[in-house]
This record gives sequence, C-alpha cells and structure tokens, in this order.
Amino acid sequence: MSKILLNHVYKYYGKEKQAVVKDFHLEIGEKEFIVFVGPSGCGKSTTLRMIAGLEEISRGEIYIDQVLVNDLPPKDRDIAMVFQNYALYPNMTIYENIAFGLRLRKQPKHEIDTAVKRAARVLGIESFLERRPSQLSGGQRQRVALGRAIVRNPQVFLLDEPLSNLDAKLRVQMRAELIRLHKQLGATTIYVTHDQTEAMTMASRIVVMKDGLIQQVDTPEEVYNNP
Ligand code: ADP
Ligand code: ADP
Repeated sequence: MSKILLNHVYKYYGKEKQAVVKDFHLEIGEKEFIVFVGPSGCGKSTTLRMIAGLEEISRGEIYIDQVLVNDLPPKDRDIAMVFQNYALYPNMTIYENIAFGLRLRKQPKHEIDTAVKRAARVLGIESFLERRPSQLSGGQRQRVALGRAIVRNPQVFLLDEPLSNLDAKLRVQMRAELIRLHKQLGATTIYVTHDQTEAMTMASRIVVMKDGLIQQVDTPEEVYNNP
C-alpha cells in the first residue's frame, strides 16, 4: 500500500547511450492496480526492474512513499516481483521455496512457518508443501511463485507477465485469483501483460507504452474507447 512516484525516469544502454525508457513520469496511488501494455521491447520490463532495484536508473528519480530509492538495494525495498519464468529452486521443497526469502532476511523460524502456511492457504497449495517443483503442474508452480512473493506481505507487488506460460483456462482462473489477492492484501500492484482482456479486467489504470515512451495513461474504458 505504497505510493510510487516515477519522476522523469530514463534508462540508457550501451556505448551509444540508447534510451530504452524515456522521460517516464507517473504517480501511482496506494492500492492501485496499474497495468503496463505495449509491444515487445517498448521498455515495460526495464521500468519494473528499475522500480525493484534490479536495474540502475540512468536519469530521474523513483520515490516510494516519498523516500528516494534510486540507490536502495532490492532487499531493502518492500517490493516483491514475480516473473514470467518463475524460476523455482528445483532441489527445494515447495515449503522451502516459499520460505527462502524470509530465511535470507533471518526472520525467526516460527514467524516464517506462520507466514508460509498462511500464504499457502491463501493460494490453495497447502497440500503440496512437501513436494518439489517437478512434481507440480504449471498452474501449481505459478501459485508457488506467487506464494514466494506474497509471503513477505510486500507493500508493492510487481508482476511481469506472470500468466503468459499458462493455458487459457488456467489464465482466466489465475486472473480472478490475482484480483481477489489484490483486494485482500491491498498491495500497490504493477502488472505487465500483452493480453488486452487481462488489462481490461484488472487495471485501475492502464499505461500504454511505445518505444520507451508513455503514450497514454487512463482507465481501461478510456484506453479502449479513445485510444
Ligand atoms: P519489454 O518488457 O517492453 O518487452 P524491455 O524493457 O525488456 O521491453 O526492453 C526494452 C529495450 O531495452 C529492448 O529494446 C531491449 O532489447 C533493451 N534491453 C533490455 N535489456 C538490455 C540490456 N541489458 N542491454 C541492452 N539493451 C537491453
Ligand atoms: P527444528 O529443526 O527447529 O525442530 P523443523 O524443521 O522441525 O524445526 O520445523 C519447525 C516447524 O516448521 C514445524 O513445526 C513445521 O510446521 C515447519 N516446517 C519446517 N519445514 C517444513 C516443511 N518442509 N514443510 C512443512 N512445514 C515445515
């Protein structure tokens, strides 16, 4: 439930300093569900990665709840990110996969246990905790990846095409689950997708990007009625 300000943010790559994100300016309110759409290569992931601290900001500032985070390492940001290829640790159990981030942060064991079991309950994966990722279906693995993120009860939730590897039926089901999770947890969410239906059904506002630039920021209705 954090406010995020991206203040004229740029990302340059390479010797020519080619800008892949240009003058990205956006204020995101608490509990918003923002969806980034736009063609492949337009800078959506790079923007998410800068918010998460996985990518340096070339120019501009990012503030989370009025705190400048440009130089804050990822582990010190109250942010959880879920990727498209939700790499789970194959040799760990599901329990250990979900607990991993909390263990890194040296939380007491009983607190970790409570948090893991709560996240597992929310996502309906309690009965798989002793299994390994290879023993789960794609949809179940995607739930585990979400479990790893929500277990920390983050203020900000960044999702980079988290459903794109799932079949159509599961995608619809997980979409409903994400909407429910957002209502329940209230984390400020930024969601990257290619899928118009996902954008329409989930977004409080849609950010349309092209060639590193914001083209439009509006409600789903406005984006599709007045593109
Ligand atoms: P999207 O998520 O919208 O598909 P990305 O943010 O992944 O787009 O990429 C934006 C642009 O930045 C692309 O042209 C991509 O090739 C380029 N890019 C991404 N990462 C790097 C990198 N590490 N070095 C150079 N160029 C990169
Ligand atoms: P210790 O070695 O300190 O006795 P345990 O590894 O037995 O601790 O775990 C303590 C608690 O954590 C247990 O009560 C259990 O609920 C939970 N726990 C630990 N590992 C798992 C696991 N793989 N699956 C489910 N619960 C676990």
